[in-house]
Amino acid sequence: MPVPLLDLKAQHATIREDMVAALMAVVDQQSFILGDAVGQLECSVAGLSQTKYAIGCANGTDALLLALRALNVGRDDEVVTTPFTFFATAGAIHNVGAKPVFVDIDPRTFNIAPDAVAAAVGGRTKAVIAVDLFGQMAAIEQLTAAAKGLPVIEDAAQSIGARRVINGSQVMAGEAATIGTFSFFPSKNLGAYGDGGMMVTQDEALYETLMKLRVHGGRRTYFHEIVGYNSRLDTLQAAVLHAKLPYLETWSGARRKNAAYYDAAFSDVPEVTVPYIDPANTSIYNQYTIRVAARDGLQAHLKLAGIGNSVYYPLPLHLQPCFAYLGYSDGQFPESERAAKEVLSLPVYPELTTAQLDEVIAAVRTYFGR
Ligand SMILES: *Cc1c(COP(=O)(O)O)cnc(C)c1O
Repeated sequence: MPVPLLDLKAQHATIREDMVAALMAVVDQQSFILGDAVGQLECSVAGLSQTKYAIGCANGTDALLLALRALNVGRDDEVVTTPFTFFATAGAIHNVGAKPVFVDIDPRTFNIAPDAVAAAVGGRTKAVIAVDLFGQMAAIEQLTAAAKGLPVIEDAAQSIGARRVINGSQVMAGEAATIGTFSFFPSKNLGAYGDGGMMVTQDEALYETLMKLRVHGGRRTYFHEIVGYNSRLDTLQAAVLHAKLPYLETWSGARRKNAAYYDAAFSDVPEVTVPYIDPANTSIYNQYTIRVAARDGLQAHLKLAGIGNSVYYPLPLHLQPCFAYLGYSDGQFPESERAAKEVLSLPVYPELTTAQLDEVIAAVRTYFGR
C-alpha cells in the first residue's frame, strides 16, 4: 500500500461532523466577513501563544508582509533572514521594497545561526526574520540578543504550539518575538480548508497598526490613516480552525510519537541522520526531515516504493533566479546549500498507522541494504 506524505482526508474523516457544524453555523448566519469566529480564533490563538494580541489575516505570507509594514520596514532597509526556508519569508521582504540579507543556518536544527545574524546586523538593518523550520523554534532568545534591539519577526508558519524552555520557563512559538506569524495553509499542523494566517504580538501599538493594515489602513470604515491591504481572515476558515484547535496538541503529540518511532528505527542506519531537536525545544514536527548524502537515490527508491516524500527546500533562496540582483553566489552559504542537497521529508502526519510507519521504515532500510 502506498503511504502519502500527508493525508488530509484521514484527518477530516475523524472530525467531519464538527467541521460541517462549524461551517454551517457561519453559512446560516451569513456572516462571512470578520464574523464572530475570527475574534474567537484570535482569542484562542493568543491564549495558546501566550501573547496579548492576535490578528487574523488572509495567509501566512500576508502575515509576514503586514508585520514588516507595521514595523515600518520599506525602501532601502535591510532585513536579515535565512536562505533555507519557504520562499514567502524573503518574498515578503522584497515586496515591502526592502532588501533581504541572507545568513547561513545552524546545520543541526536548520534554523538561522544567531552568531551569523549578529555579524550581519548593520546600520541599514531594520529587522530580523527568524523561521521555526519544520516545527522547531529558532533560538529566539539568542536571536533577540543578536538583533541588538531591532525587532525580530518569528515566522512560525510551521510551528504553532511549539515550545522552547528559556531561562527555566516554557516560551511558545510567537510569544517572545516582536511579531510572530502563523500560516493555516492546509498542510500546516493547524490547517484551514483554504488559506489563512495570523499575527501575534505583546505590543498594543503594533496590534492597533496590524488591525488597520489588514483592512485598508483604517479601523473605521471609509477613514484611512495608512494605506493597507484587503487581508482579512475568512470567517469560514476561522470557524474550521477554531473547531480544530482543541485537537492541535493531540495531533502534534502524535507527530512527536511517530518521529520517535522513526528515530529508533533508523538508529542503526548510519547513512540516515535523523532530525536533531535542540534539548530546549519541543517540536511539533510539521516535517520529519532526515539528511542523507545519497538523497536523490533514496528519493527515487521511495517513489518507486509508493512512499510519499518531498524535498524542503531544493534551492536556497540566495540562489533563486529572482534574487540574482542581490549578487549572491554559489558557495556563499555552505550549510544551507548542503542542506538543500541532503534533506528529505518523510510522512509524519498524526493519523499514520504503525503499519504505515513500518512500511516507510522498511523502504528506507531496504535502500541501504538493511
Ligand atoms: C507556509 C509558510 C509560509 C506562507 O504561508 P502561506 O499561508 O502559504 O502564505 C511562510 N513561511 C513559511 C516558513 C512557511 O512554511
